[in-house]
Amino acid sequence: MLIDTHSHIYSEEFDADRNEAIGRAKLAGVSHIVLPNIDASSIDRLASLSRSDSEYFYVANGLHPTSVNVDYRKELELIFSDNTFASLTNVVAIGEIGMDLYWDDTFVEEQKHVLDFQLSYAKERKLPVIIHCRNAFGQIMDVMSAGYRSGMTGVFHCFSEDYEAAKQVLDMGFNIGVGGVLTYKKSTLPDVVARIPLTSILLETDSPYLAPVPHRGKRNEPAFVACVAEKLSQIIGRDYDDVCETTSANAKKLFNLN
Ligand SMILES: [Zn+2]
Repeated sequence: MLIDTHSHIYSEEFDADRNEAIGRAKLAGVSHIVLPNIDASSIDRLASLSRSDSEYFYVANGLHPTSVNVDYRKELELIFSDNTFASLTNVVAIGEIGMDLYWDDTFVEEQKHVLDFQLSYAKERKLPVIIHCRNAFGQIMDVMSAGYRSGMTGVFHCFSEDYEAAKQVLDMGFNIGVGGVLTYKKSTLPDVVARIPLTSILLETDSPYLAPVPHRGKRNEPAFVACVAEKLSQIIGRDYDDVCETTSANAKKLFNLN
């Protein structure tokens, strides 16, 4: 059993062959897929896929940091409306949320504010969070330290920081999300995952992005989470089945999946 804890398979990149991609995921042993939202424009797609099979797809609702701009108030209003929550089945987390200062730091203050809002929303409803962090680890930790750490759970998805940062994430009681980057030649992630407990690792694809070797450069899809599990098993010297079972148990616990 494998769980893809982060896939955007509802996006238009899969419009031509979504059912085939889902079939391949099932063949590869993927038992559950968590679908994180991006912004208000992606809710309808997310809702219709989650409704198509509510025992296979689980939803994280939230506003992605790269979609934060001058209109963020309207976005938050739409995303966190009763209507939106009514249209989504199986909301298991708030995500993806966080900060991204890689391409553009024009809206850094707005990103902080939006992260803060979504963290308090999640905390109030006792939901875990899926954190997107790019070139912004210190800023995210600053926002999170403002009273949110205690009692919150979640995952830093597609983790790409160093061991010291990983330790801070683990000390907070959060998990580390590991995807295709683990398989890349120049990645420093193998050294990090070798030093952290398997019980804190979640597997993910972030499909359609960041396809693992040997699919690097092509469209990623949930079935390829098996390549990540394979690589992780080599790095830490544990059985493939053990890696799949333990990381799936981690995901089930965090997102309260059946
Ligand atoms: Zn994502």
